Amino acid sequence: MTPRRRLIPVFVPHLGCPHMCVFCDQRKITGKLRPAGPADVTRAVEEGLSRLEPGAPVTLAFYGGSFTAIPLPEQEALLRAARPYLSSGRITDIRLSTRPDAIDDTILALLKSYGVRTIELGVQSMDGEVLRLSGRGHTPEDAENAAKAVKAAGFELILQMMTGLPGDTPEKSLATAKKFVELAPSGVRIYPTVIVRDTPLYNMWRAGTYREHTVEDAVALCAELSEIFAAAGIPIVRLGLNPTDDLSGGGAVAGAYHPALGELVLSRRYLAREMELLSEADRGRDVVFAVSPGRISAAIGQKRANAEALRARYGVKTVKFTERPMPDVTVERI
Ligand code: SF4
Repeated sequence: MTPRRRLIPVFVPHLGCPHMCVFCDQRKITGKLRPAGPADVTRAVEEGLSRLEPGAPVTLAFYGGSFTAIPLPEQEALLRAARPYLSSGRITDIRLSTRPDAIDDTILALLKSYGVRTIELGVQSMDGEVLRLSGRGHTPEDAENAAKAVKAAGFELILQMMTGLPGDTPEKSLATAKKFVELAPSGVRIYPTVIVRDTPLYNMWRAGTYREHTVEDAVALCAELSEIFAAAGIPIVRLGLNPTDDLSGGGAVAGAYHPALGELVLSRRYLAREMELLSEADRGRDVVFAVSPGRISAAIGQKRANAEALRARYGVKTVKFTERPMPDVTVERI
């Protein structure tokens, strides 16, 4: 079996950001205080390689900023530090995240020459008003043009969206997801909005001009978004912020911060399928569902939330689950 692809992340918090998006404090989100320089790239790669299983494909990932908005000499210095590892095959590829308005053909050609394979675009929303209220400083058209240019230049494209931003609605998020499907990325990331202490969004929330996007809001909406991407065959490579000590230790003051958000969303998708298989006629009955191997805990829900919801809604006596070889995120009644 081929060993699993491994990622060596290098964080460049706020490097290159021409705007301060209202929700963002990359230092708290990434847990890193200062942007990486070329020596940090070398250190991170050496350290990462020493811990990884030999033979596994290794991706070097520049995250946490707007890579292609960094002054060109600094971009090149970071990429140059990775070059020997790429040439020797010790790392297999490079990915980076950036803003849609920091992409053009010259930049793309430069990234190609340094062996970058994947570009993640922080689009966040395809609604102009949401982008404006969030201080993003780019338009939906910038995002669409950048996504098309990235794909046309032969890169793998990952699109990032957020939910619950200022001015946002579930309908706008669903429309963003549908637009993403048209742009056909290789994967998407979904980041429900978290209110991070001392950001402009935190002040807006305290002043009552922004309403919190709760964990429950995010779970319900992301379950719907997941169905859209699943139907289009587009994998969700991340759902929810990675927990960091800073965020868990008080940096995340409100909003959709939960260390297992992806699991909660998966459980909600299972609950929808389980509900479709029950009716009022099941009151007082014992019910058994089959799910694919490894999915019983998602199907039951955290703290048996799904099983309890079914008992409350349909009055069933007991709900049990068993495993069977069957497609993921499907449920059969047996
Ligand atoms: S969200 Fe991205 S572009 Fe906005 S401030 Fe944060 S890192 Fe910069």
